Amino acid sequence: MNLYFLGTGAGVPSKKRNVTSIALQMLQERGSTWLFDCGEATQHQILHTNIRPRRIEKIFITHLHGDHIFGLPGFLGSRSFQGGDSSLAIYGPKGIQAYVETALAISGTNLTYGLEFYEVEEGIIYEDDYCTVSCHKLDHVIASFGYCIQEHDKPGELLVDKLKAQGVPPGPIYQQIKEQPAVTFEGKVLHREEYLGERKSGRKVCILGDTRYMSELKDFVKDADVLVHEATFSKNETNLAYNYFHSTTQQAAQLASDANVKELILTHISSRYQDDDLEGLVSEAREQFPNTNIATDLSQFPVS
Ligand SMILES: [Zn+2]
Ligand SMILES: [Zn+2]
Repeated sequence: MNLYFLGTGAGVPSKKRNVTSIALQMLQERGSTWLFDCGEATQHQILHTNIRPRRIEKIFITHLHGDHIFGLPGFLGSRSFQGGDSSLAIYGPKGIQAYVETALAISGTNLTYGLEFYEVEEGIIYEDDYCTVSCHKLDHVIASFGYCIQEHDKPGELLVDKLKAQGVPPGPIYQQIKEQPAVTFEGKVLHREEYLGERKSGRKVCILGDTRYMSELKDFVKDADVLVHEATFSKNETNLAYNYFHSTTQQAAQLASDANVKELILTHISSRYQDDDLEGLVSEAREQFPNTNIATDLSQFPVS
């Protein structure tokens, strides 16, 4: 898993920061990439990465503000042009389907692949044998959501040396031991729990849309390996953040600390802040939560 930030600015693009889009690459895990938000020129940003549009399998939209969705019709059209033929699922608040279908219809854009729309409500919105995706309402001017991707736990590795030491040679029996609670081999009962290493717990990645600070999110993002939180403003602008339905660096850090997450990544930074300000922004968040980083355009954060 790798988080690839395509756009990290708030509201309007600046020379250094394009508007919001984040890719979650899961090439080893499922051979695909998921996109979270698709601000204007997201497809231009993708050109600077190793992300292949046709490998993008799902797009999750946090909310319908322009800086999060104006890149969507263009991206979808180009994906078609570049030979994408696998269907694409789009998740987002009510209205996302009408927006995309209207833009495609009016511009006469015919896609070479199918689109599936899921207008989300709070709760589990997707599940397969690899992970569960759930979403939670945020506090913004319009309906806005945060998404959590939770991998399922994986069973531990088969303790091959132990089996060999007990005189069980490699063969189809190893697969049976992995799959069944108990297997009989040459008259001896082998219990699975004795021959499997420790279970590997699945990772949890949470990506929130625009929001005011919400202490109620604590349970939703609890123990996440990575929390991506907006930090439109510095800690000195709490009133401004509240009035514009956004968060400060320190509020994001507060949630990270309360929820016991492992790593916090700040994004959606106001264009009022320049390169020189970044050090200050990150250190005020680190006062509250030391393992904090600020995303810049095209920065990557592997999820270990
Ligand atoms: Zn925004
Ligand atoms: Zn917004």
